[in-house]
Amino acid sequence: MAYYIVFQNKTYHEERVGGYLWAPKRTKSGKAIYHWTNMTKVKEGDIIFSMYKRNLVSVNIAKSNCIDANRPAALDSVNLWEKEGWLVHAEYNVLDKPIDINLYIEEILPLCPGMYSPFTTGGRGNQGYLFEIENPLGEYLLGLAQAKNHIQLTADLSREEKDYIKEVDDLLNRFMDETEKAGIRKSRIGQGLFRNKLLANTRECAICGLAIKELLIASHCKPWKDCSDIERLDVHNGILLCPTHDALFDKGLITFQDDGRIIISNRIKEKEYRLLNISKEIRLPFKKEQLPYIKWHRENQAQ
Ligand SMILES: [Zn+2]
Repeated sequence: MAYYIVFQNKTYHEERVGGYLWAPKRTKSGKAIYHWTNMTKVKEGDIIFSMYKRNLVSVNIAKSNCIDANRPAALDSVNLWEKEGWLVHAEYNVLDKPIDINLYIEEILPLCPGMYSPFTTGGRGNQGYLFEIENPLGEYLLGLAQAKNHIQLTADLSREEKDYIKEVDDLLNRFMDETEKAGIRKSRIGQGLFRNKLLANTRECAICGLAIKELLIASHCKPWKDCSDIERLDVHNGILLCPTHDALFDKGLITFQDDGRIIISNRIKEKEYRLLNISKEIRLPFKKEQLPYIKWHRENQAQ
C-alpha cells in the first residue's frame, strides 16, 4: 500500500461527489507534468489524503488502479485543462474534524521527500496535484486523522472479517499482560480466519515443507498491533510456518532479504542450525506484494 497527498482545491467538491481523482495527461502545449503523471502509480487500496485550503479534509482509498479517462463532465466548469487524462476511482472518507496542517508542519516537514515534496520548506503547499509520500508521513497523517475522527478504512473487508477483527481486538484489550496477548494472537489469528485465507494458497511450511495441517501457523510479518485492519487480514502479510519456524520468525531470530534469502540472527550458533532445521541456503519465492511486509519485519523485528 502506498500513500499520496492530493491538492484538489478548485476541484475537490466535484471529485468527492463523483468518487474519483482525475488529472490531465499533458498541458495544452503537450508537456507531461510529474504531479499529474503520478496518477499512473496509484494502485487499488492505496491511501490518498485530500488537502483543501491547507486542511486535511478526507482520507481516501483508491478503489481501482489508475485508468485512462477523459475529463469527467462535472469538471468542465472548473477545469480548463486538456480532456485526455487519468482517473482513479476513490472512496472518500470525509473527516468530521478537518486537520489544519499548519499546526503540525514542524512534524510533517522532516518526513517529506527531498524532491517533489508536497510541502515547501516554508511550510506552504507545493504547486501541484498529486504527490507520492513515504510510509512514515502517510502513517503520521493517518494517525492525525484517526485521532480526531472515527474513520473506517475497511471498505473492502467483509462483515465476517470486520467481526473477527473486533473480536480479536476486544480480547486483546481485556489482557494487559503482553505474554497473554501473544498467546491470544497465536490462537485466534495464527489459527483462525487469517490462517484459513493462507491455507487457500499453500498447505506447507514455507521453510521446511512440513505439511501436517494441524501444526501449521499463520505468522504475521507485520504484527497485528502495528497493522491497519486491511493489513491484518492481508494474505501477503502472512507466511505459513511450522511451530519451530514460526517461533524463530515471530521472535525475529530469522528474517528475509527482499530476494527471499534468509537472514539468521547471530544469536543462533551455527551448530544449532541443524537442530532448528535452518540453513543459510534457504530462499523463499516472495511475491512483490509481500515485500513491504517482509521489509517491515526485517527492519523492526529482526534480532
Ligand atoms: Zn518449518
